[in-house]
Amino acid sequence: MIDLHSHTNESDGTCSPAQLIDEAVRAGVTVLGITDHDTFKGYDQAAPLAAQAGVEAVCGIELSTKLNGYSAHLLGYFLNGNNSAPMSEFREWVLNQQSARRDRNIRLVARLRELGFDITLEEAEARGRGMTGRPHFAAIMVEKGYVSDFRQAFDDYLDESAKGYVYRQEPQFIEGVRRIRAAGGIASMAHPIRVKGDVPSLLPELVEAGMNAIEVFHSDHVAADTELYLSLARRHGLLVTGGSDFHGAVKPGVSLGTGAGNLRIPEDLFDQLRAAV
Ligand code: AMP
Ligand code: FE
Ligand code: FE
Ligand code: ZN
Repeated sequence: MIDLHSHTNESDGTCSPAQLIDEAVRAGVTVLGITDHDTFKGYDQAAPLAAQAGVEAVCGIELSTKLNGYSAHLLGYFLNGNNSAPMSEFREWVLNQQSARRDRNIRLVARLRELGFDITLEEAEARGRGMTGRPHFAAIMVEKGYVSDFRQAFDDYLDESAKGYVYRQEPQFIEGVRRIRAAGGIASMAHPIRVKGDVPSLLPELVEAGMNAIEVFHSDHVAADTELYLSLARRHGLLVTGGSDFHGAVKPGVSLGTGAGNLRIPEDLFDQLRAAV
């Protein structure tokens, strides 16, 4: 079985890199894409363990970007290996995205304190580490009784339209595509079902910019979605990727390899990806 979309606790998954590899072995996943949000830390720790366990780990990333003003996720694959200058440049750019996040978090703490909440950056980072984000702040606000639940934390304070929101610099989707391709990677639109806007009409521009794959198989796709994205892949000559988007205990309904139960990722798509790089 193959699964090209998974997360460790270096981003918002709950499994450590070692636990994720154990889970792959248990589930019978022999090719595993590790695609943490905006960081390679999970993959970098998992890679040697995967090799020992006989699992082929694929170095991936899931970039948070903006597409037509809305947030959209972009997968990049095969972003390891050689120490080429373009690859180092890409990894350095990813680290810069993380400092933009930290800078936002510093301003977010200041804003929340201004609103009367006793919250520190240290507390939030104890939970989220390198990928500390608004969900971690929301959890703290619930725990301290400042809001009744997660929903209220976002609705009243953390949502883009709420009074505690502070801006975070995010790259444009197309910039992400260009940078992944410049580093020699494959750029795939993640879970297109979640992209705001009409995917068929967005594609020409993205393909023109170098996007060369689309995530056809995903836990959130019903059969009709899979068919639609497969036909779009054919129309534009795109490579096909697929994965469960496993996050561990925070998404208990999604299993590695089989997703929500109905995921069947054709094994040969990995051969085509590998042939393309
Ligand atoms: P951040 O990356 O820190 O800006 O936080 C983004 C994350 O916050 C998203 O991936 C969602 O999980 C969560 N999020 C953003 N807006 C909302 C919302 N209105 N309600 C609930 N969760 C949200
Ligand atoms: Fe996630
Ligand atoms: Fe995603
Ligand atoms: Zn994901």
